[in-house]
Amino acid sequence: MRVKHVDEILRIMRNIEQIRNIGIVAHVDHGKTTTSDSLLAAAGIISQRIAGEALALDYLKVEQQRGITVKSANISLYHEYQGKPYVINLVDTPGHVDFSGHVTRSLRMMDGSVVVVDAVEGVMPQTETVLRQSLEERVRPILFINKVDRLIKELKYTPQQIQQRFVEIIKEVNHLISLYADPEFKKKWQLDPASGMVIFGSARDKWGISIPLAQKRGIKFSDIIEAYKRGKEAVEEFATKVAPLHEALLDAVVKFIPNPREAQRYRIPKIWKGDINSEVGKAMLEADPNGPLVYAISFMRVDPKIRRLVATGRIFSGTLHQGDEVWLVNARKNAKVLQVSIYMGPDREVVDEIPAGNIAAALGLEDARAGETAVATSLKDKVPPFEKLHYVSEPVVTVA
Ligand code: GDP
Repeated sequence: MRVKHVDEILRIMRNIEQIRNIGIVAHVDHGKTTTSDSLLAAAGIISQRIAGEALALDYLKVEQQRGITVKSANISLYHEYQGKPYVINLVDTPGHVDFSGHVTRSLRMMDGSVVVVDAVEGVMPQTETVLRQSLEERVRPILFINKVDRLIKELKYTPQQIQQRFVEIIKEVNHLISLYADPEFKKKWQLDPASGMVIFGSARDKWGISIPLAQKRGIKFSDIIEAYKRGKEAVEEFATKVAPLHEALLDAVVKFIPNPREAQRYRIPKIWKGDINSEVGKAMLEADPNGPLVYAISFMRVDPKIRRLVATGRIFSGTLHQGDEVWLVNARKNAKVLQVSIYMGPDREVVDEIPAGNIAAALGLEDARAGETAVATSLKDKVPPFEKLHYVSEPVVTVA
């Protein structure tokens, strides 16, 4: 965990080029949780305040015991790439196929997905489902071929066989991308392993590498096989000193996943049904922090520490401030934002304001449900929500 001052994170968040919003998607048991945990352990941001309460190392243990990594709606990671700092928001995605809208709401917050595929099992039905859903929301994928240790230890593959296995998996994933991506992205989003869009490794053993990184560091498949032959310590050394998983994955995220502004330019016309030539439409296309507020709420969860409902969502336009009066489009009510916070690791840290492109938590919006859109009061009755929700008070029309 990286101990950071909240002001430093906010400074990065004001620079939209240094933000990435991603999620991890996978077929069950392919390693989504293990991958998230290893990212959190290596790159999760923890605030100075919380670090003061518990030592960073112990903190992770406590959080794991409480199962926070699974339950929290968002975890922020810190990564430096070519000397520049980045905040990478890791959005929680549902672990199973569900039809409640939960998937779409998670996808709405993210611009990129890390698709995790078990090297032995390969592409499975849920890999196809989650990839299709992501692509339909114009969420750009990169690929993590996980459990490579199994190819080495269980299947005793030679370097050639390992390489062949990767080629097969990449080919299958690329086929799905050409099948499900919108026409303009079918080619553009094809995974090119030579440029680093594919990482292979072991989330359990915490190592990972891409082809360009392997070339840069002079690593061959035979070196990895050799490390496993030498035993646990050699693998640990490889994971910590030579090829840490978080570095390979987060480098690829920064490099290939668009920043929120780039992403909103092509995602808004697809995921929002309003007029993109209107003032608010243009502001969303540019993720303009000075535009009218549009805050799409993906989750409403009770914070057990304060026993209050916390909204988590993405700011597509404008800046969310503490004290803002907002209009809840579905609930058809005004509400007041009592507190605004950002995620520092799995915890929240209170701030005065958060600009467009970021993921924000807010208190005071108890009348909202997951899927609600909160907008500036000046937009009342002027914009459609991201998602239409049926409230109990509304007449629900059923077709017999
Ligand atoms: P999820 O269902 O996608 O979240 O998968 P989990 O992360 O819970 O992993 C499922 C199982 O695979 C667990 O028993 C993990 O310990 C195991 N696993 C995860 N990553 C690896 C890996 O790199 N190698 C091996 N051999 N097992 C792994």
